[in-house]
Amino acid sequence: MSARRTLAAVLLGAAVLVAQGAGTPPAAGGATAATPTLPDLGAPAAPPDGAPPHVGRIDRAGLRTHAYWLADDARAGRYTTSAGQQATAKYVADHWKKLGLKPLGDKGWLQSYPLRRTVLDAATAVAFGAGKFDRDLAVLATGETKVALAGKFVYCGNGAAASVPPGLAGRIPVVALGAGGGSGVGNDLQAVQRFVDVSEQLHKQGATAGVVCLLGDKTSLGNTLNYRALLPDHPQLRYGSGGGDRGLRVKLPLLVLSAAQGRSLLAHCGVTVGDDGAIDAAKPNDKAAGKLSIVVKEDDKGVGSNVVGVLEGTTKKAEAVVFSAHHDHVGRRLDGDAFNGADDNASGTAGLLEIAEAFALGGPRPARSIVFLSVSGEELGLWGSDWFAAHPTWPLDKIVANVNIDMIGRAGRDGDGPITMQVTPSHQHEKYSSIVRDAVALAKGFGIAFTSGDTYYERSDHYNFAKVGVPVVFFCDGEHPDYHQVTDTADRLSYDRMEAVARLAFWTGWNVANDKGKPTTLGPQPGW
Ligand SMILES: [Zn+2]
Repeated sequence: MSARRTLAAVLLGAAVLVAQGAGTPPAAGGATAATPTLPDLGAPAAPPDGAPPHVGRIDRAGLRTHAYWLADDARAGRYTTSAGQQATAKYVADHWKKLGLKPLGDKGWLQSYPLRRTVLDAATAVAFGAGKFDRDLAVLATGETKVALAGKFVYCGNGAAASVPPGLAGRIPVVALGAGGGSGVGNDLQAVQRFVDVSEQLHKQGATAGVVCLLGDKTSLGNTLNYRALLPDHPQLRYGSGGGDRGLRVKLPLLVLSAAQGRSLLAHCGVTVGDDGAIDAAKPNDKAAGKLSIVVKEDDKGVGSNVVGVLEGTTKKAEAVVFSAHHDHVGRRLDGDAFNGADDNASGTAGLLEIAEAFALGGPRPARSIVFLSVSGEELGLWGSDWFAAHPTWPLDKIVANVNIDMIGRAGRDGDGPITMQVTPSHQHEKYSSIVRDAVALAKGFGIAFTSGDTYYERSDHYNFAKVGVPVVFFCDGEHPDYHQVTDTADRLSYDRMEAVARLAFWTGWNVANDKGKPTTLGPQPGW
């Protein structure tokens, strides 16, 4: 047996110990990569004085094993309804089943919610010479589309007005886009305008569709497609009465090729691309010809899924505390690189799994019941938690509190100073409650200091509980340069700090679950 495997086995062994208490994670949605040699995490911290014994069951090794599985490339960024998201839902359900929780979904562990879809059909492709590209592509289109073009490719430079020739009717225009500028999710969302501009210029010259060779597929122009375009196993989804063509306002459908494939189509058109991704020379080959097929269908067959389980309490078991964390993220980029979403939100999901294990196996049961809610659709608009709040599988008036964790893996720390995290509703917020007050007090025992996270009050799943009058507390580490980037990977998480935050979340909910009274809303206060 090899060292790495031994290491992996040792790590898995630990995981299995954890998991066997909790069930062996199935390698679904594509085989999980062998766990690399990982740095030593050090021993779990000693729990603070007065902490319930359960807290010791939440440890950095268990958190890391879950986070690495959830954020593995094989999960392909866990886009809602994708194979990776469904495998993740099964991973969570299997874990809870092994813990002896009871399913609290519609029929079993899953709570499903309907979605309308705009789907990329497998017939979508561009073909020329011996080549045919029908994977690693994206399509920008506004609804149902059927394009079948056969004819000459016309090279249109970068798609700006000056480089798009007239007379494109019946032709297949080919545009080369280099690197998109800027970084960060805000910039990514705006980057799509570049594609809209290209579609307008091609449309002006009579085109009915176009091909974009995205040489800058690792930049904001590549990132933006995950929010607005159709990719294989990545339909555009709509929830409830929400309308609006997420495919935005392109004037005509655009098929976008990854840099690798784009280079070979451009070569066929007589355009050479340098190693730096810039156009070297363009001697348009007017014999270049091929076929373009874009097929986009709409249906209402989309199904989003939440995973719901319950640990029944003792003396007050009709009432419950809901622990929640979303497990979905934004998928895989055109170039094949996954948005691993390690902090967002493999960290919170790992926390939720360890917290469930602590409640189930760490010591006596609490007075009130504990509902564990792992939702999808969060990145798309808090859909999964909205559905649960509208179709609760536990009576809403019996839910006394919600503890939500989203991005707990990148807490800050200045030298030996406290671990810094954000919490909302803060003491300045009208929804400030006794839960937050008590959590901030408990946090000192873990060396955690909070600042206001009210910026995020409406940006994660607790908000749907707050909207229906449930007192909430939301822990998050705030945005960082890897937020919604392919660089949000499991090796960048701080597992010792994550351990502290997950334990604090546990203890916060444990106290509410055993309290004689129910949490109260305090409203704005001068201090925590
Ligand atoms: Zn998130």
